[in-house]
Amino acid sequence: MNYIPVMGLEIHAELLTKSKVFCSCENSFGGEENTRVCPVCCGMPGSLPSLNKNVTVLAVKAGLAVNCTINEYSAFDRKNYFYPDLPKAYQITQFEYPICENGFIRLKSGKKIRIERIHIEEDAGKLIHDGDTSLADYNRCGVPLIEIVTCPDFASADEVCEFAENIALRLKYSNVCDARMEQGSLRVDVNISLMPENSDKLGTRAEIKNLNSTKAIRRAIEYEILRQSDILAKGEKVIQETRRFDDNTGTTKSLRSKENADDYRYFPEPDIPPVIITQSEIEQIKQTMPEMPDKRLLRYTDTYGLPYDDAMLIISDKALSDFYDKTVQIYSNCKGISNLILVELLRCTKETGISTADMKITPSQLAEIVKMSDDGEISKNSAKELVSMVFSSGKNPRELAKECGFIMSSDTAAVTACIKEVLSCEQKNVQDYKNGSTRIFGYLMGQVMQRLGKGANPKIVKELLENELK
Ligand code: ZN
Ligand code: MN
Repeated sequence: MNYIPVMGLEIHAELLTKSKVFCSCENSFGGEENTRVCPVCCGMPGSLPSLNKNVTVLAVKAGLAVNCTINEYSAFDRKNYFYPDLPKAYQITQFEYPICENGFIRLKSGKKIRIERIHIEEDAGKLIHDGDTSLADYNRCGVPLIEIVTCPDFASADEVCEFAENIALRLKYSNVCDARMEQGSLRVDVNISLMPENSDKLGTRAEIKNLNSTKAIRRAIEYEILRQSDILAKGEKVIQETRRFDDNTGTTKSLRSKENADDYRYFPEPDIPPVIITQSEIEQIKQTMPEMPDKRLLRYTDTYGLPYDDAMLIISDKALSDFYDKTVQIYSNCKGISNLILVELLRCTKETGISTADMKITPSQLAEIVKMSDDGEISKNSAKELVSMVFSSGKNPRELAKECGFIMSSDTAAVTACIKEVLSCEQKNVQDYKNGSTRIFGYLMGQVMQRLGKGANPKIVKELLENELK
């Protein structure tokens, strides 16, 4: 029998707030163990949580970024379970009344992936396993999270990976989460089951937890499809369970049999009042949202005429995309600007390790360089060199171009004199050229260009050289 994989995702994203969700401990990554903890996030008796308002704002932004309805009323619940990384023995989350519902994202193919809900919750700590001992680091306890839950709308690893990248980009654009999968600020759980072809009855699913790269997502899904179809082929039953992906072996292993909602004894959190958001507050937050990457992509490809891959490259870095937008507002050669960015500017960032957010070159400087090149004031090669010089110095491009002799001379008399000089030294080559070896032209041209230096205008040199050789 043939099976179709059916998948849904649960994505945990750490929010970019200064402090944790229910206390004033700093929310940051790394650092010494157990240095950002207090009675509230460690669940000491007598401590009381109070909700960080900015968490609500970021959760609303996340909802708006993926076309959700924002609920005016949402509330917190306790999810009870014991694990050493959770000293309170319950997680504060939103079960009955999540903050956002009914969103969606469209894939490149046009397929709509529905988002069931987004809820706010707190993160748990981290266990560090070292030989026979396990140590607990509670710095991550109480770090604000949103959990994005999709409907089981995915049918392939490609769709899942595209969606994960798309979500990550939207969260980065809206400044909700830095979406660094390798650091765990964005973690993807995949629920996967196999359904017989021509059936609409879902099979039993396995949940693969905490995948931390798109590569891991892809490998885990591929392995799980094989594992489950093997079980079904033998006439056996897939067990509902939580599994962990092992990066070294490319396989998944059972962690625990999957609990149902009842097992967690969810009940309303008595210490935190419900979250009430008004329409006008939602409207205010909406005003702060940037244009989402899919809209930018359309603008770049349809209005600016950029090739899809070029547009994608620029959009995948919000700082770069903002830089590009400002540059084309100043000077409208969209393609010329994009080319110089992709060829030269990205080479500079790569070589120096300076990020596009921190580079010295400004949009108006890049615009000026492209314009000078378009106007024939400097050559294309000089334009590239200028980009790299302004990138590292931040100096005025026109001044630099003058200092370096990049401004092309239109003094034809000087060019003709130089050509005559070169031709008199290259009599044999000139003769060969006249006898039909046309490729010698390039060599002669090179000789003249070399003597004239960077201020030589190749178009003028070519014309005059052709004349002289006639
Ligand atoms: Zn704390
Ligand atoms: Mn969760």
